[in-house]
Amino acid sequence: MKFLIKVALLLFCTIHVAWAASIVIDAGHGGHDPGAKRTFDGVTYLEKNLTLKISQQVAQEFRTHGHDVAMTRTKDQFLNLNTRLLKGRQLCQNAFISVHIDASRQEKQTQAQGATVHVYPTANTRTRKIAQATQRALNPKRRYKISRFRVIRDKKPSCVSMLVEMGYLNNPNDLKKLNDPKYQREISKKLAQSVSNGLTKYKNYAILNSI
Ligand SMILES: [Zn+2]
Repeated sequence: MKFLIKVALLLFCTIHVAWAASIVIDAGHGGHDPGAKRTFDGVTYLEKNLTLKISQQVAQEFRTHGHDVAMTRTKDQFLNLNTRLLKGRQLCQNAFISVHIDASRQEKQTQAQGATVHVYPTANTRTRKIAQATQRALNPKRRYKISRFRVIRDKKPSCVSMLVEMGYLNNPNDLKKLNDPKYQREISKKLAQSVSNGLTKYKNYAILNSI
């Protein structure tokens, strides 16, 4: 009987570990949802393709920091918001990062540029500290924002949850950079490094929700 209990316990632990990841990367959009879309010089760029490419780089960079990483999608696939929320809630141990590309409302080119980090209004102090550090690392000209993006709410308090807009699709400079594999690697490296450092540095900060 004792043996059976041990086996059951071992099985439970194995399944539990298999279902958890230090970091969850959520590549925005996919499938029939292209996200933002802009055409420059006859070429059409879709947010869903860029988010997937960059998310794969971000995942790779987190792995070099010793984290195990899960992705909500690894191909051009549509996932509804609830699936993303559920995966984040089930899997995330340390951080959930939703990757997007910004686009200003007007079709025309924008002066706005660079990355913006978003956290949910109920984000705890630890999440805010890490968001601030990450914003500084990615684009010091901006401040991180408090936004009601549903995909980053309802996570475990220990899971730092943020949405990162990597740049602007309708800013030609950003678009050129975001399509460059070297820049994709660079920005992914900064993001992974900043979050990894933050997780260690702010380990003891309050993780109770702020409101
Ligand atoms: Zn998006």
